[in-house]
Amino acid sequence: MSGLRIGLGYDVHAFVDGRALVLGGVRVPHPRGLLGHSDADVLVHALMDALLGAMRQGDIGSHFPDTEPEYAGASSISLLEQVRELMESEGWRLVDADLVLVLEAPRIAPYRDAMRLTIAEALRVGIEQVGLKATTTEGLGSTGRGEGVAAQAVVLLERV
Ligand code: MG
Repeated sequence: MSGLRIGLGYDVHAFVDGRALVLGGVRVPHPRGLLGHSDADVLVHALMDALLGAMRQGDIGSHFPDTEPEYAGASSISLLEQVRELMESEGWRLVDADLVLVLEAPRIAPYRDAMRLTIAEALRVGIEQVGLKATTTEGLGSTGRGEGVAAQAVVLLERV
């Protein structure tokens, strides 16, 4: 049996007024933030679902229910650290992760390496093991209309 597993994650959150925009654990200056029970870090949510998927450990909804007051306004990076602890206890090591943010605005390039580093530190891996790019949808669909942000993540895990 292979000691390798892949995981895929996807998430979407809507923009709302009156919240900070947090992506990849980094606060990005923008007039609107994302709606959610936690800090609504859509990028980290997609990554956590990919990691849990690769471990065959359900999803973030089952580990961190949005009905739990404990997770109201929670830092998604701190939840990612809990997922990393689960990986360690289950005997998995992250080989590689690649992430995509889908949004019209703001521009991500100035913050990309800070996001990669923040995620890599939470997972205790090197920054080169965390890829990140951003794309628009050319004005099409809900992300194209600037109604929210989508994110995708793919990961490769290896048995320790
Ligand atoms: Mg989410």
